[in-house]
Amino acid sequence: MDILLGQVLRFDGDPFADGTSRIDEAVAVAGGRIVATGTKDALCAAHPQARVTDYGRCLISAGFIDAHVHYPQTAIIASWGKRLIDWLESYTFPEEMRFADPAYAREIADRYLDLTLANGTTTVCTYATIHPESVEAFFAAAQARDLRAFAGKTCMDRNAPDRLRDTARSAYDDCKRLLEAWHGQDRLSYVITPRFSPTSTPEQLAALGALWREHPDCLMQTHLSEQTDEIEWVQALFPQSRDYLDTYEAQGLLGEGAVFGHAIHLTERERARLMDTGASLVHCPTSNTFIGSGLFDMGLARTSLRIGLATDTGGGSSFSMLRTMAAAYEVGQLRRDPLHPSQLWWLATQGSARALRAEDRIGNIAPGMEADLVVVDLASTPAIEQATRRATDVWSEVFPTIMMGDDRAIRAVWVNGRPR
Ligand SMILES: [Zn+2]
Repeated sequence: MDILLGQVLRFDGDPFADGTSRIDEAVAVAGGRIVATGTKDALCAAHPQARVTDYGRCLISAGFIDAHVHYPQTAIIASWGKRLIDWLESYTFPEEMRFADPAYAREIADRYLDLTLANGTTTVCTYATIHPESVEAFFAAAQARDLRAFAGKTCMDRNAPDRLRDTARSAYDDCKRLLEAWHGQDRLSYVITPRFSPTSTPEQLAALGALWREHPDCLMQTHLSEQTDEIEWVQALFPQSRDYLDTYEAQGLLGEGAVFGHAIHLTERERARLMDTGASLVHCPTSNTFIGSGLFDMGLARTSLRIGLATDTGGGSSFSMLRTMAAAYEVGQLRRDPLHPSQLWWLATQGSARALRAEDRIGNIAPGMEADLVVVDLASTPAIEQATRRATDVWSEVFPTIMMGDDRAIRAVWVNGRPR
């Protein structure tokens, strides 16, 4: 048993509805789970044998959850000057070809997970490349770190270079084999992953829809309505479809457990169908500004939709969920919808967990939840420290770290009940 002392943050509900949060003095952890929260005196008296670690005024939170990333793009993060389609052609596809080499895939998977853990992120949901080896490498690296993690083979059978194309049949077979080998192993989950409609034929989308019907406990992730010229391309490729979402819906790729990245330029029909079917959306604010895509409507978080937050590495420009929260705040300001710090923090933890349908296991500090924790120094630089001196409550103390913090603010990370 371990007891961690600090400002222990627990959400009692969704702050986009009328949910509240509270701060406890201590959290007890054993066997990889949260046992209890409460006062320091009560927990130490109840568990006199426990090891006690005192983090002072640090915020102790559920670890960050990054709900949409491309780990293979780790090395091309912050590449200059492109928008979505030429970003893929100039940077992404040449880099993704290198993942045919399992040793390179493992090197980048290790590097990526070390970077995300250093930033306090304890769960990611990632696209791999077309190569099954890239999924194997990622899952092995996540398993070695005892992480709860989500990943899937990216499927593309058109509009991509020869060496990055599979077929409807091979995508189905490879994904099925990977799913059977890895889904539910330790803390790992397989995710059915067509990249997006422009790079999959209707036949491939249908094959993946069939696979999802056979394994409805898996998530399905893809991209939706990121840029306007992408949407026009989808209309040209799928002239029979009512809209972009319909290209997925028609092939059985819409429903509970469908996780759509970006979803910026939605029609009224698309919004209504997403809500009716219980799908999840993932807001990728640093990517949406870096690639020049647009401003996500955070008002959707006040509907029945499940909304997560993500870096979209490497289209996004940071590995840090703090920087990502800051960008979400800035995008909110541009839409006249400034998010409260509690809403930003909730998106990066419980919101992303809900988007991945894992909110009963990760993303909050409550008895029985898995003990993935981040310990955040709220005075990690002189600039942040001086800004917190006039704080009147925990959220005004946290906000300067959201806006100005980075990996220097991450004092400690606990994974599955153990410090890293
Ligand atoms: Zn993406």
